[in-house]
Amino acid sequence: MHKIDIELIEMTMDIMKYAIDRISSTQSKIGKPKTEEKLKELVGETITKKGIGGEYAFNLWKKYLMKANVSIDHPRHLAFVPASPTRAAIMFDLVTSASSVHGAYWMEGAGGIFCENEAMKWIVSLTGLPKGAFGVFTSGGTAANLSAMVTARENWRENDAFKGEKGLIITSIGAHSSIKAMAKVIDVDLLLVDSEDRLIGEELQKTLDSLTEHQRKRLFSVVATGGTTNAGIIDDLEGIADICEKENLWFHVDAAYGGGALSADSVRHLFNGIEKADSVTIDPHKWMFSPYDCGAVIYKQPELAKKAHSQEGSYLDIFKDEGAHGFNPTDYQIQLTRRVRGLPLWFSLATHGTDRYKEAVERGIELAQIAGKMIEKNPNLELVREPSLSCVLYRRIGWKPEDYTNWTYENHKKGFALVTPTKWKNKDEYETVSRFCFINPDTSEEDIKAILDSMMEKRVKK
Ligand SMILES: *Cc1c(COP(=O)(O)O)cnc(C)c1O
Repeated sequence: MHKIDIELIEMTMDIMKYAIDRISSTQSKIGKPKTEEKLKELVGETITKKGIGGEYAFNLWKKYLMKANVSIDHPRHLAFVPASPTRAAIMFDLVTSASSVHGAYWMEGAGGIFCENEAMKWIVSLTGLPKGAFGVFTSGGTAANLSAMVTARENWRENDAFKGEKGLIITSIGAHSSIKAMAKVIDVDLLLVDSEDRLIGEELQKTLDSLTEHQRKRLFSVVATGGTTNAGIIDDLEGIADICEKENLWFHVDAAYGGGALSADSVRHLFNGIEKADSVTIDPHKWMFSPYDCGAVIYKQPELAKKAHSQEGSYLDIFKDEGAHGFNPTDYQIQLTRRVRGLPLWFSLATHGTDRYKEAVERGIELAQIAGKMIEKNPNLELVREPSLSCVLYRRIGWKPEDYTNWTYENHKKGFALVTPTKWKNKDEYETVSRFCFINPDTSEEDIKAILDSMMEKRVKK
C-alpha cells in the first residue's frame, strides 16, 4: 500500500504541474491532427489487461497525443469560434471534478448548484428579461437550443387544436447548423428565410404572409440569431419580437456565440429586443471564458420548461430535510445526471468581477475593428462587410478558393496560426473568403499583422 501511495502522490504532483504549466504557457504551438493509424503507430496498445501504468500513459499524452490537438486558446487561433478560458475557471474545472458533485438535483448538489445559480443570475441580468426569468447550464449551445425548442413545442401542443400537427419553425439561413439538426431531433419542419444577412421584421412578416393556412397553423416558433457564427450578425430582435408577440409565436434567440457581448456597452444596443424572448441560448464556453463544455438556456417562464423536461416530480418528496428542496437543474433541460458545469464560471466571475469580463469582451470587438482597419489600408485586401461583433470577413484580391485553403494549410503546418476560410452568400453565389473570429484578449495587433502579412507572400505551389 505504502508504495502505491507514493506513486499516487507523484502522479498527482506531475499532473498538477502539467496543468499549471499548460495554463501558464504563452508560447505554445498550435497543434495539428494526425490520422488514427499514425497515432496508433506512435503510442501502441494503451488499454491492456494489466495496464501500461500512469506514468507511461501520461508520457504518451505529453509526447504525442496532446500535440495532435489544436489548442483553442492560442492567440493566433482565429478560426471557427475559438475560446480562451480563464485560469481561474480552468483550475476550478479541476475542483469541479475532484468534488464529485451530482448536479441534477439540489438534494445532492446544493452547494454547487447555488454557485451555478449565482453566475446564472448575472447572465440573466445581461439579457434584461423580466423578473422570474431564469436558466440552467447545459453541455453547449446545441443542447440549449434543443431544450428550448422542446419547451416551445410542448407548450404549443398543450392546445388541443395542435395535438396531431407536425410543428414548424421559421429561422434564417444564417442560423447555426444546430437549429437544423435539432429540428430533426424533435421532428419539426424548418422554414429558412433566404438571408444570410440580418433578418429583419418586415422580411419575417412577408414570410408569414406567404404561408399556407395549414403551414400557419403548424408554425409555433421563430428562432432569431444574436450573433451569427459565420459573421457576427445580430437579427432585428426588436422587430421579430413584436411579430412573435402579435402572432403568438415562441421567440427563441440563439446567442450561443454573441451572448457574451451582452456585457459590452459598445454593442449592447444591437441586442435590443432580446429582453422579449421566450428563451435564449448563450454559450459561456465561447465568449464567457469558460472551459468546455458549458452552454446555457434561459427561459422567460422557467415553469414551462419544467413542465416539458421534468423527469420525476415525485422523487424529491421522500426527502424530509428542508435543505434538500431547491432548484433542480435537471428539470429545465434534456439531461438528467450532469456536471455542475457552471461552477468554473462562478469561480472565475467571483475572482475577477464582471467588469473584467466586460473589458475582455470589448477587447475582442476592438481587435475586429483593428483588423478591419488593417485590411482597408492594404490594397491587396478587401472587407467583405464591416466587422460585426468579433467577426471579420475579408478577401485577398485575386485569390481562388484553393489559394485560401493552401494558405490555411501552410500556416497551420508551421504551427503559426489557424485561420480558415468560410463561404459568404453574395446575391445567389457563395464566395470563399477568409474569416477572423476574436475571443482571446491576448491576441495582439502584431499577431493580426503577421497573419495578414503571410497572405502577401508569394504562394508556394503544392
Ligand atoms: C456554436 C453555436 C451553437 C452550437 O453550440 P455548441 O456549444 O457547439 O453546441 C449554436 N448556435 C450558435 C449561434 C453558435 O455559434
